[in-house]
Amino acid sequence: MTDPSGTNDMAAAHAAIPSVDRLLRSAQLSAAIARHGRPLTLETVRVLLEEIRAGAHATLSASGSFDEAGFGQLLATRLAELLAPSQRRVLNLTGTILHTNLGRALLPASAVRALADAANEPTNLEFDLGSGRRGERDRHVSRWLCRLTGAASATIVNNNAAAVLLMLNTLGSRREVIVSRGELIEIGGAFRVPDIMARAGCRLVEVGTTNRTHLSDYASAIGPRTAALMKVHTSNYEIVGFTASVGETALAKLAHEHDLPLISDLGSGTLVDLERYGLPHEPTAREMIARGVDLVSFSGDKLLGGPQAGLIVGREDLIERLNRNPMKRALRVDKLRLAALEAVLRLYADPDRLATELPALRLLCRQADAIHAGALALKPALETALGGTAEVRIVDCHSQIGSGALPADRLPSHALAIRPLGTGRHSGRRVEALAAAFRELPLPVIGRIQDDELLFDLRALEDPAVFAGQLPKLRLPAAR
Ligand SMILES: *Cc1c(COP(=O)(O)O)cnc(C)c1O
Repeated sequence: MTDPSGTNDMAAAHAAIPSVDRLLRSAQLSAAIARHGRPLTLETVRVLLEEIRAGAHATLSASGSFDEAGFGQLLATRLAELLAPSQRRVLNLTGTILHTNLGRALLPASAVRALADAANEPTNLEFDLGSGRRGERDRHVSRWLCRLTGAASATIVNNNAAAVLLMLNTLGSRREVIVSRGELIEIGGAFRVPDIMARAGCRLVEVGTTNRTHLSDYASAIGPRTAALMKVHTSNYEIVGFTASVGETALAKLAHEHDLPLISDLGSGTLVDLERYGLPHEPTAREMIARGVDLVSFSGDKLLGGPQAGLIVGREDLIERLNRNPMKRALRVDKLRLAALEAVLRLYADPDRLATELPALRLLCRQADAIHAGALALKPALETALGGTAEVRIVDCHSQIGSGALPADRLPSHALAIRPLGTGRHSGRRVEALAAAFRELPLPVIGRIQDDELLFDLRALEDPAVFAGQLPKLRLPAAR
């Protein structure tokens, strides 16, 4: 007997729902508590019972009596979901090697070991083993930074955004910093030079125009309130055509004539000339120091290939001022990253081995024919997994370095291009569904979509078996 609104059915189902206390006495709940602890299990039981009262999981109380075994399974599934790690390993086949959203540079094995050792044991982080007195945490890496850049001194903070903030706040608080309009950049993730300036307490003085800035523009902007001249590496775009900008050497000369420092946000910044590995040239920190820049800042996890960090190298008196700023304490780096960074910098002592030992550089240096061989090896397995629902081709493509480095230069590579079969309509949705299926693999595979095709750029896949091993688990989207 049912009434039209179903109210009686609902009432009967509610009556069958047991109390938390009764469920607590069931064997499945005791097992869950033994495995996952009481607070999380209880909280989850309460949430599930709420959901059931609200009409969800109707099959559990459909028969008029409550299915306790079914509830136990539901609980186990929900607890497993709750406890699954949120940050997981993925396969980055986007073609962007230093992908900010996917964690940028991969650390070399020696850095991972150093990081784990530092995590497991006390270290001499701020302790001088010779004198037995308090030491400086930055010294573990600063001597390497000086050696590798020719700078007199170095300091290290959380990331390059923090480095820029610290430089500006220390040198330019309540004063003016002169920057070319062509360099007022925004980097992804809300890093905008004008905003950082404001937060650092400096007044930004813009000079020149978007495409052309001359030495005289800087010179005429210098006044009694000027604290510094600043160069910003226009990492993620390039102005081409009728352009002019002032090089560091001329700008340093002008700054020094007025007793002002020239500071430079190098962005990605490298410690070696990438041309030696057949890659396009990117300005190095050493070049900046040699050109007379007083402070240079750059990221640890971009082209340098280390952990997230902001590195500042330059004049000793200025670095000392940065270190005395209370902000430095708030931006400092922990022992884990210092350990990893020290290990990475040590690799730079031998640039010949760098291209094999530093993963970021190794991936950037991979030759197109090796990548093509990987594509050939993978294609049959991919075709099998797709079971005739899509066409697979090997296509030429270009990888990007990412993280704003070298925007105009791209690296020749190869991709597997997957085009779902079917008529033209909804092809966008079909390729989205296919991309989602690859993201649902136990080791999610991230590609990019271009012209209704799913592209897997294989530059970052050194071992095709890692991808191939996943493929039997691919769950194809239902045909539409
Ligand atoms: C990437 C970048 C930053 C920010 O560096 P993070 O290490 O990500 O904080 C700042 N300036 C420039 C020019 C950059 O390219």
